Amino acid sequence: MKPDLAVEPLDSWIKTDGKPLIIAGPCSAETEEQLVETARQLAQLGSVHVIRAGVWKPRTRPGSFEGMGETALPWIQRAKAETGLPFAVEVATPQHIELALKYGVDVLWVGARTTVNPFNVQEIADALKGVDVPVLVKNPVNPDLALWVGAFERIAGAGITKLGAIHRGFSTGEASKYRNIPMWQMAIELRTMFPQLPIIGDPSHMAGKRAYLNELAQMAMDLKYDGLIVESHIDPDKAWSDAAQQLTPAAFGEMLDHLQIRQLASSDVTFKGAMEQLRNNIDSVDRQIVEMLAARMSLVEKLAEYKRDNNVSLFQPDRWKEILESRKQLSTKLNLYPELVEEIYKIIHMESIRKQTEVMNNTPVA
Ligand code: PEP
Ligand code: MN
Repeated sequence: MKPDLAVEPLDSWIKTDGKPLIIAGPCSAETEEQLVETARQLAQLGSVHVIRAGVWKPRTRPGSFEGMGETALPWIQRAKAETGLPFAVEVATPQHIELALKYGVDVLWVGARTTVNPFNVQEIADALKGVDVPVLVKNPVNPDLALWVGAFERIAGAGITKLGAIHRGFSTGEASKYRNIPMWQMAIELRTMFPQLPIIGDPSHMAGKRAYLNELAQMAMDLKYDGLIVESHIDPDKAWSDAAQQLTPAAFGEMLDHLQIRQLASSDVTFKGAMEQLRNNIDSVDRQIVEMLAARMSLVEKLAEYKRDNNVSLFQPDRWKEILESRKQLSTKLNLYPELVEEIYKIIHMESIRKQTEVMNNTPVA
């Protein structure tokens, strides 16, 4: 089945003058003062198009702050009145949708922990029937493109045409400096499937730490994302959720000023756009190749420690034969020359032996 979505362009519901759509605001609405003051300072930057805040917070573990719920909705009305900016909140149930719309919330988003569940997404889609509201769908927590696509299909099936994707990275269980590994290729695949679907980068939830926001936001811009959603709080260190990844409105303004947003000349925009997009995609794939090599090497290192501690010999010829054969078979399936993959694996294997020797010769720490 060739999926397709009826999606209206971003500027059908928000005017950004060709600039990336900027959504910013606290992870959670905590108090009226915190929300309104954050919104006011963000609006003063002049470059924020939509304010965000979580009102119902889906937490992985119980006991953390679960959001102020309906109590916060009048604060949103005040923030809107004082800034003149539209407001976005996360919704996870039909009741959230009803309440959000009742209080004049302008944009809804579906969170990563909701996108993973087709039952929840269908309930949301059913509740959206007959409503004309922009809906942004975050990628599911786990790297499963089909779940993300399924959510768009369900919501589009309810007649929502103001649709967009939020790429917030994935939880894979692999070690990474980021809270959620971006896996940029997932969003690239989504774009290839639905070129008309706007994609908004969420560097905050990818990063988990303020220090990484800039590089992730820049990467999203380099990949020609349609916008950014960033968590900003008047007093980030005291935030009731996601404190480490939020930044003050002033720091956010500074970050935006330093982002390189490469505008394309309009004359040969298609050619240049295609070239740049492809190069960006290549850069992203290359980055992943190197990251994967590092991940493989750290697994090899662990393996070597086990071998050393259990007195098993380092080189296992059968295993090497099997690696080579299975990788060559896979490469044939994927239309790559098996010789190419063989050469690459010989180098990887050499390095892996070298690494293992190094570990073997190190006595374990008592
Ligand atoms: C959020 O945006 O605050 C949030 C809960 O994000 P995610 O669904 O990406 O974890
Ligand atoms: Mn958050």
